[in-house]
Amino acid sequence: MTDPGYIQLYESGELEQRVQRLEARLEHCDICPRRCGANRLNGEIGSCNAGKLVAVAAVCAHRGEEPAISGSRGSGTVFFGNCNLRCVYCQNYQISQDPERQRPNQITPSRLSNRMLYIQNDLDCHNINLVSPTQYVPQIMRAIYEAVPRGLNLPIVYNTNAYDAVDTLRELEGVVDIYLPDLKYASNSIAAKLSDVAHYVPTARAAITEMYRQVGNLVVDSDDIAVRGLIVRHLILPNELAGSEESMRWIASELSPSVTVSLMAQYYPRHKAMEVPPIARSITTAEYRRVVNLLDVLGLENGWLQGEGSRDYYLPDFNFEGHPFERG
Ligand code: SF4
Repeated sequence: MTDPGYIQLYESGELEQRVQRLEARLEHCDICPRRCGANRLNGEIGSCNAGKLVAVAAVCAHRGEEPAISGSRGSGTVFFGNCNLRCVYCQNYQISQDPERQRPNQITPSRLSNRMLYIQNDLDCHNINLVSPTQYVPQIMRAIYEAVPRGLNLPIVYNTNAYDAVDTLRELEGVVDIYLPDLKYASNSIAAKLSDVAHYVPTARAAITEMYRQVGNLVVDSDDIAVRGLIVRHLILPNELAGSEESMRWIASELSPSVTVSLMAQYYPRHKAMEVPPIARSITTAEYRRVVNLLDVLGLENGWLQGEGSRDYYLPDFNFEGHPFERG
């Protein structure tokens, strides 16, 4: 196995420079496309509810990700608290939209680097899987910078809602090995209504294009474990609200038909979804099949289909101590 790129960036001094550049931006925060300008170094909280410290809601070996990510030993998942989207149906709402509950979970980047080494040395996972990392990129980079001289050498997975700023992603080039963005919508107005966000579609597409430029198609090792590349996730929503057809066409025509796609059928009305009639139900078999057929038509042959009925396995509950996916 070759060493992850961040080790070379550490040795050349480039990683330290990037950490310093990113941390300076926290004074008038423009880390994500909201560019809300909060002074996070001086105690202010941004639109994403994140401040100077990092909220870490859970760390575990997750076996329910895509096979190339979970492998046989699990993916070392770090679930970050708070989020820069406000999805009314968020499956992780317990940690993404309850800042009061995240207050006790706040840790320094140094402690985050300890958690990364715990994943590598104690949990023996295949990778470090950063879930909802966008609002904490400077602190994550600081944690990686501190963990490298202590032996960190696992691939980094950036598992995001894709509402990421291209200038921030550029600072991650050579650090992130596997990008795992969720392309959520093909309509800005639906994104505004369901996730309280402006310009989602061009922003997410620009972000995913940048991710693809950096890492290219998925590469796996001799055990079929991901070592590098892009995997685009897409969660099918009821009543075609995710714009599945348009998004799949965009991937095939603007990126490449060889891009790896992970199609998720796990949607279940959680959080405030029952108050929004078009999404107050699961997806139907016909809705699922339509998108699956489309992958065939477009020649998108690489990836995974989450089968219908698998949603229970994927639904996390952060009330369970230690591991949101395993209940006793
Ligand atoms: S990361 Fe948070 S604080 Fe920074 S610009 Fe985005 S919403 Fe604002």
